[in-house]
Amino acid sequence: MSRILIKQTLDNIDKEVTLAGHVATKRDHGKVTFIDLRDESGSLQIVGYKMLGELKMESVISVTGMVKKRPTGQINPHLITGELELEVKSYTLLSAAKDLPILVNDDGKQVSEEVRLQYRYLDLRRERMQKNIRLRHRLIRALRENFYQENFIEIETPLLTQATKEGARDFIVPSRLQPGEFYALPQSPQQYKQLLMASGFEKYFQVARCFRDEDLRADRLLELTQLDLEMAYVDKIEQVMDTVENLLKKSLTQIGGKLQQQVFPRFTYQQAMNKFGADRFDLRTTAEKKQGVLAFAWVTHFPFFKKVDKADAAEVADGKSGWTFTHNPFSAPLEEFRQDLLAGKNIANILTAQYDLVCNGYEVGGGSLRAHTRDTLTATYKIMGYSENEIEASVGHMLQAFDLGTPPHGGLALGIDRLAMVLTGETSVKEVVAFPTTGSGKVAVMTAPNQVKPQLLQELGINIKEREAK
Ligand code: ASP
Repeated sequence: MSRILIKQTLDNIDKEVTLAGHVATKRDHGKVTFIDLRDESGSLQIVGYKMLGELKMESVISVTGMVKKRPTGQINPHLITGELELEVKSYTLLSAAKDLPILVNDDGKQVSEEVRLQYRYLDLRRERMQKNIRLRHRLIRALRENFYQENFIEIETPLLTQATKEGARDFIVPSRLQPGEFYALPQSPQQYKQLLMASGFEKYFQVARCFRDEDLRADRLLELTQLDLEMAYVDKIEQVMDTVENLLKKSLTQIGGKLQQQVFPRFTYQQAMNKFGADRFDLRTTAEKKQGVLAFAWVTHFPFFKKVDKADAAEVADGKSGWTFTHNPFSAPLEEFRQDLLAGKNIANILTAQYDLVCNGYEVGGGSLRAHTRDTLTATYKIMGYSENEIEASVGHMLQAFDLGTPPHGGLALGIDRLAMVLTGETSVKEVVAFPTTGSGKVAVMTAPNQVKPQLLQELGINIKEREAK
């Protein structure tokens, strides 16, 4: 199909062109019908004499006609093409739309989440969602390009893998080739990125999908996207923090983000708790909130361990001794607490070499210097109550890699969904994800989770106990 984009009509005044797009609005006056035609680049009024009246909203058409200046008095100042219109000579109906279940020319905030997600391809047509998804794209693109420039290389890591702890429940996948056994989907690429440091790659990053089976909130997803990175030969938290701060500032500035401060303020966990009563906080003034300013800050000097919350199934499973990690079991302690960690003493007071990045009240990133020796990682697992055998089963492969020459290293993961959320000024991560799940974990547009055929279960060696009546 040879067509031009709607915004290109600006360069084609008094010429005949072909456009294609969705019917965004229609005003049918009998003899003459006005339609706003919408494509990726914008929208334009098209005028049909004794035609177009039959078209339903959101149908897809191509139209050929003359681009003309609108009569004065009919100019629409809100559109870049508002001084123009297309006088339609002929059109082709490419796809007829039936009555719409939801409207797409408002912000969609009145529509229930379930219906919006059921018809997500309609919902995504609205201007707000188009803006959000495109801004997310620009964020990822800018980050990628800036990381390449700093000589980070992009490496993919497996999704079918062994459990890696980030404090949530695992999603598991049954194996057909090893019946009765399961893969876990990664809660993060944590272990693989550390193994990449053992493999001689000194600066790694990846736009990684992570899976966490958690109860959902406005800032949480079952599958989330991280800009995951790791660097070898770092032994100070500032080395990673400075690198990330610079790359992030550069990327955000390039895509029009307004930063409150060029140097992100840094707080210890204790200072943050004393000052804000929380380790994530909002540094913006009321005026800055209205202006869409991004206020970043770092938090460091976190306790390494915390008492298990008995209501949290993942914590109960992770912390057999009653102690579990606050952030990541693969972190190193701050140097002055190394002896305490190794001796399993003074547990409540051991601080970890962890740093969290906060923006506008949300945690948008976190990372740490890592354990890169057998004794450190083993000591952490011992404090959590793991026996030698259990340690071997959980992280034996990491200990082996540490025994075979692994440089000191550290890294961080940026939460792309939350960053895109604060950047667009949205208050739910779902508004920046094309196809998020519903609050009860159902996928958008299709039906999942689903029951599977008995034959498939048999191949997997799985028996389902009688289903509870719904
Ligand atoms: N694994 C991340 C890290 O780099 C943290 C996270 O996934 O939340 O420390």
